[in-house]
Amino acid sequence: MYDLIVIGGGPAGMAAALEAEKNGVASILILERAEFLGGILRQCIHTGFGMHYFREELTGPEYADRFVVPVEQNPRIEVKLGAMALELRPGGETHTVIAVSKSDGLLELRAKAVVLAMGCRERPRGALNIAGTRPAGIISAGAAQKYVNMDGFLPGNEVVILGSGDIGLIMARRMTFEGAHVKMVCELMPYSSGLTRNIVQCLDDFGIPLKLSCTVVAVHGKERLEGVTIAGVDERLKPIPGTEEEVPCDLLLLSVGLIPENELTRGAGVPIDPATGGAIVNQNRETALPGIFSCGNVLHVHDLVDYVTLESQLAGAGAAEYIRRKNAGETVRAPEYVPTKAGEGVRYVVPQQAEKNEAAGVKLYFRVGGVHKNAVVRLYANGKELARKKRPRLAPGEMEHIEIAPRQLAELPEGAELTVEILE
Ligand SMILES: Cc1cc2nc3c(=O)[nH]c(=O)nc-3n(C[C@H](O)[C@H](O)[C@H](O)COP(=O)(O)OP(=O)(O)OC[C@H]3O[C@@H](n4cnc5c(N)ncnc54)[C@H](O)[C@@H]3O)c2cc1C
Repeated sequence: MYDLIVIGGGPAGMAAALEAEKNGVASILILERAEFLGGILRQCIHTGFGMHYFREELTGPEYADRFVVPVEQNPRIEVKLGAMALELRPGGETHTVIAVSKSDGLLELRAKAVVLAMGCRERPRGALNIAGTRPAGIISAGAAQKYVNMDGFLPGNEVVILGSGDIGLIMARRMTFEGAHVKMVCELMPYSSGLTRNIVQCLDDFGIPLKLSCTVVAVHGKERLEGVTIAGVDERLKPIPGTEEEVPCDLLLLSVGLIPENELTRGAGVPIDPATGGAIVNQNRETALPGIFSCGNVLHVHDLVDYVTLESQLAGAGAAEYIRRKNAGETVRAPEYVPTKAGEGVRYVVPQQAEKNEAAGVKLYFRVGGVHKNAVVRLYANGKELARKKRPRLAPGEMEHIEIAPRQLAELPEGAELTVEILE
């Protein structure tokens, strides 16, 4: 029996475990299905990590090691590698996690609290309905990142990238460094979903064209990819007849979105927010099931790992407080929550509810649905403005936040709803 089980040993799981330990949790288990801690950061060998959290520019593995080393040295944190959680069975007093590992076989583990930190996976070709044959040479950008950075293998020479998410942009530069010819990045939307700094540093600096409002409508080749047909799309994102163009290539990289890995979460009956694909949580990242927390990319797709760390520390501290109350036999009154809402121009807000008497105030993280210039972010409840800030540019690829102060939160009338909206 553990106090806390953390599922996933990426940056989210490690930060949550360390913060829980710092807040007094005595026995913590991290379950990680891979043979190493660090999650996806292990394959991200470029720099750009940690500028907000450490105020240093680190590579992915360097950022991961800032957490791996203290986790491994902490006697109160046990790590099981090669251990995959298969099922989460929520209970009243304790929760049960069913896991399997090569060394231990099938495990039935119990804990007072659980942190879900399983990250996300990439959207595959099957989700896109691209017509044509099924040759080798069509892979996700993340798979190519692993081949190139971890396995020392170049998966192609003439490359087209579909989707301008950050992983695709990073891989455009990486493939160029390795001697491949990246012909273009095609993006369905009229804007890129990646960070502006990645468009400049990964495409513009290398003369790689970004074709907006453009998609791949067919792939060609029998055994191996020989080319793709691209076409422009209209405002309803439908291909425009007559704009087709054949592009010879032997590798098509897909960078068309990430899907939070919430199979365990759904199986446990945790309510999911359709806008994020992750659990509905409060300000401590506790889900609707008491003692079950969620953080990192499994909760919502983050742009920067620095925010993953900050969010996961909230979950770790929240789990520690939950365990402390349980151990002390304290019964807590059902908290009074204020729901949060995505208003005009906003796609989603996390957390989806905030406790009224949260002493630290609450930061509301959100993403916008389109590109806005010289915009104002406004937070209001019941018609009354609570906060506003000016932003020269807002883009869907960049996560934003706005804060509500503790006193403002406490003074909200019954039935109030916190809404974030964008004014042009
Ligand atoms: C392919 C890919 C490439 C990326 N590249 C970049 C990049 O270049 N730059 C950038 O800023 N961000 C990048 N990201 C975003 C990056 O994922 C986040 O910043 C950060 O790594 C998220 O941390 P996390 O701990 O939530 O998830 P992850 O790092 O994905 O860690 C989740 C961990 O949970 C484990 N896990 C999942 N399910 C189970 C289970 N059932 N049982 C046990 N363990 C489980 C996984 O093996 C993994 O180790 C990338 C994401 C992906 C998917």
